[in-house]
Amino acid sequence: MQIADNVVASLRYKLTDSQGEILDEATQAEPFVYLHGANNIIPGLENALLGKQVNDQLEVTIPPADAYGEHDERLTQEVSKEMFSGVDEAQLFPGAQFQAQTDAGQEVITIATVQDDTVTIDGNHPLAGETLHFDVTVLDVRAATADEMSHGHAHDAHGDCGHEH
Ligand code: ZN
Repeated sequence: MQIADNVVASLRYKLTDSQGEILDEATQAEPFVYLHGANNIIPGLENALLGKQVNDQLEVTIPPADAYGEHDERLTQEVSKEMFSGVDEAQLFPGAQFQAQTDAGQEVITIATVQDDTVTIDGNHPLAGETLHFDVTVLDVRAATADEMSHGHAHDAHGDCGHEH
């Protein structure tokens, strides 16, 4: 069976950035399982996996546009430190991440720089602007169940969802 829409695939992968640093990993023992064709994964990886089958190995380089997007300066803003009034000053440093409620829902914001009275925050995805390298092996491919197709994501071996619907 080949990977296509309405197919659930299990992957072993290693994700590295352009410096070769490992950002994420899924192993044979704890594979990454996803429903193809449901926007569960970044477009560049989904396109590369189309038509692959069990034991296929591939190395994919994905530019930001097909991954988490280009870094958008408009998502960066300088805010008063008072916005972080409940946060220990020691936790305000470049690279620190916080959950924030925004117009677009729950998002991760990253602190870019810290000034005397203000903090510059960055609402871009932490991997925005990064070219990503995936080293992937396809471990399993199966047809999605009716439940999975209607939910738009893969379920585990017990058919458990783990999501609210
Ligand atoms: Zn579900």
